[in-house]
Amino acid sequence: MLEGLDETAAARKALAILAEVELLRWTVPHAFGGARLDGLASDRDVSVRALCAARAELAYRSGMLDVMFVMQGLGSYPIARAGSDALRAEILPRVASGERIAAFALTEPEAGSDLGGIALRAEKRAGAWRLNGVKTFISNAGIASFYTVLARTSGEPGADRDGGKGSLTMFHVPANARGLTATRFEVIGPHPIGELHFDGVEIDDAERLGAVGEGLDVALATLARFRTSVAAAANGFARRALDESIARLKTRKQFSKPLAANQGLRFDLAEMDARLRGAELLVAEAADAVDRGERAVKEVARAKLVATETASWICDRAVQHFGGLGVKKGSVVERLFRDTRALRIYEGTSEIQKLILARELVD
Ligand SMILES: Cc1cc2nc3c(=O)[nH]c(=O)nc-3n(C[C@H](O)[C@H](O)[C@H](O)COP(=O)(O)OP(=O)(O)OC[C@H]3O[C@@H](n4cnc5c(N)ncnc54)[C@H](O)[C@@H]3O)c2cc1C
Repeated sequence: MLEGLDETAAARKALAILAEVELLRWTVPHAFGGARLDGLASDRDVSVRALCAARAELAYRSGMLDVMFVMQGLGSYPIARAGSDALRAEILPRVASGERIAAFALTEPEAGSDLGGIALRAEKRAGAWRLNGVKTFISNAGIASFYTVLARTSGEPGADRDGGKGSLTMFHVPANARGLTATRFEVIGPHPIGELHFDGVEIDDAERLGAVGEGLDVALATLARFRTSVAAAANGFARRALDESIARLKTRKQFSKPLAANQGLRFDLAEMDARLRGAELLVAEAADAVDRGERAVKEVARAKLVATETASWICDRAVQHFGGLGVKKGSVVERLFRDTRALRIYEGTSEIQKLILARELVD
């Protein structure tokens, strides 16, 4: 379906497929032009259960379909959450239809896990904002129609108390703004990604998302909404790896019997299945709690940590079950092994999930 296409073409084709089957409508709240989905505390929110269901299925089939699906939501949610009515009406229905491509820009060379290090500065002059600085590891860089950007509006990088609370502000920046350039780089999985350079980018105050100084709250609320879906994608990749392993071990013969006749390998399959089911139940628990409007900090951190670490382990076992074929470029399990790795890093690394969970348990 997407094979043989270069990364940009594959990303665009994936988006067109998702738009055609109307899945992108799940990434935008019903109140702002998205699909009507049940069981939500408010129709101004996206359904985490729906995001998770979609991502588990998409990741089972294709990492590119998964990333293009979720970025529409992640990149546009700050607008749904904190944009003006005019901005919501202009952008969000077009995100839901696939006409506009969204991206979410927090990370900088010196600000990854610690957003208090954000140095990209937005200064207000004569009613407009001027942005200067660099963002990196931005999914959809270069193909997005717009970026939701977290910028520093006061204080100094690394000097804030509370990791940037009060000093950062979120903006909607159109990709064609003068002074904004994107350069692409590659990561190990199929993922359109790159760096953004802001060189005196001027935007109107109407592009501000929320109050000045409240950008970190908007960014964290966005992550709180979407983080569980990273875990669901991990489960999708892992389930595919388990299915691939079962099929291979049943058919591949060595020492005159199928590999699946060896107890050691059968134990592997049992453990893969049990760990995956545990991760799926954690995702269901977290998604239900977030959709009910609960705080759910522990549930989300547990689901992200366990599902992404489990998926990496499962995909690694699948590579082992395939022997040499497991590392041959182009094999399904080789792709799954690469696809899953970044999930332990983005939207809060595994270590950050442990810090969050421990804080909830101890403090
Ligand atoms: C494929 C991919 C897509 C991405 N897409 C986006 C995107 O669209 N938008 C965006 O803004 N960003 C994006 N990112 C960036 C991602 O969010 C960051 O990479 C992530 O937050 C980690 O930051 P860092 O890479 O600077 O690592 P660092 O923060 O430098 O961390 C390095 C290591 O140190 C550990 N560490 C850090 N602090 C602590 C601590 N206090 N205690 C213990 N361990 C710690 C981390 O867990 C990690 O293992 C993406 C990254 C990847 C890989």
